[in-house]
Amino acid sequence: MKVFKFGGASVKDAAGVRNVAHVLSHFPGEDLVIVVSAMGKTTNALEELLTAWVRGGKVEERIGVLERTHQEVLVEVAPGDAAAMEALRARFEQLRERCRRRPAGRSDMDYDQIVSFGEYWSTLIVGAHLNAVGVRTMLFDAGEAIRTDELFRAARVDWEVSQRQVEHRLRPLLREHPFRVVTQGFVGRTAEGLATTLGREGSDFSAAIFAYLLDAESVTIWKDVRGMFNADPNRFPDTRLLEHISYREAIELSYFGASVIHPRTLQPLQRKGIPLFIRSFSDLAAQGSTISEATDHDTLIPSYIVKPGQLLISIAPHDLSFVVEENLSGIFWLFARHGVRIDLMQNSAVAFSVVVDDSPRAHGLIEELRKVYQVRYNAGCELVTIRHFDEATLKRLTAGREVLIEQRSRVTARFVLK
Ligand code: ASP
Ligand code: MG
Repeated sequence: MKVFKFGGASVKDAAGVRNVAHVLSHFPGEDLVIVVSAMGKTTNALEELLTAWVRGGKVEERIGVLERTHQEVLVEVAPGDAAAMEALRARFEQLRERCRRRPAGRSDMDYDQIVSFGEYWSTLIVGAHLNAVGVRTMLFDAGEAIRTDELFRAARVDWEVSQRQVEHRLRPLLREHPFRVVTQGFVGRTAEGLATTLGREGSDFSAAIFAYLLDAESVTIWKDVRGMFNADPNRFPDTRLLEHISYREAIELSYFGASVIHPRTLQPLQRKGIPLFIRSFSDLAAQGSTISEATDHDTLIPSYIVKPGQLLISIAPHDLSFVVEENLSGIFWLFARHGVRIDLMQNSAVAFSVVVDDSPRAHGLIEELRKVYQVRYNAGCELVTIRHFDEATLKRLTAGREVLIEQRSRVTARFVLK
């Protein structure tokens, strides 16, 4: 059994949905669990709808637009499927019903109840299309399997309960062979039956969760790029495909900001040694990238990741008497409380410097730090991370730039540039 994941870009319109069937036609006789994200920019549209709803604004027009777009795609890819059309209508009715109520006032909880709809709409359409073209497909509600806690918007999986639910509810469906199950990415459910989400772009993680729980043979993420590259192909010429890298290397790369896969995806796969393939949904002949246990290829190509829009914050006491050990725990605690992730840190005798994403949260944190410390910051910085660096790559990436911080370990060089 294999797990396939199709992201929003791959199912953004009728042609995309048809292409899913085309991809599957290359895997006849395989048992597949197909994890699907919301179509195109639906999740963003739902976030906007949520904001309007919370502010007490009108949302019917927004719901109408989303409903028409989804209906149009459904009619194109599964003409005459009255049952699917009715199911889609019912899902939109549920959203309307929810929006007629007032928000519960717990903003993250409200978010998940609304934003999770996108994946239910898209899976309905993909499932209907596969059945329409003769691929016997079953829709499975991911919330029936993936149990999470109540950390809405970033819910954590309860692996034990999820495993039991998979055995009782999903595994029996897979016994009929060959079988295709279509299910939602991004969503889970609490013990009380409330929808949760796993964080933006979390469908990759969902695919890994299903693979882990089902002991799948592999996971394939079908994307609009040919695989994982050593740098962002939209930013750099001459990028190279990483054909085969280890879990560890891929985790490092996504931690440093490579955006090809959701960072939480790899841990469950690594724990069971399940390989991850990243392949192009529009170029089936291309081999793509493989992420697995083997490490012998990791060091061959320097990879570089550029994070723009960084703030370099420097924190010092007013009287220059900085005792690092005494102050750091308090400082870290404030970062955690404000939900600001530190991308790089460095300390000197009298100051502690960190690099973070420039965000409203970061500025809130700066305000709070200023109550105790002298805080300066430098906005508009770039954080460049280079794995398996060589001097030529370092020179090329830093040429003509002001280097504010430089850090090197054996395999990783990092620069804060202005
Ligand atoms: N639809 C969700 C998002 O756009 C999840 C995903 O695409 O992975 O964030
Ligand atoms: Mg998406």
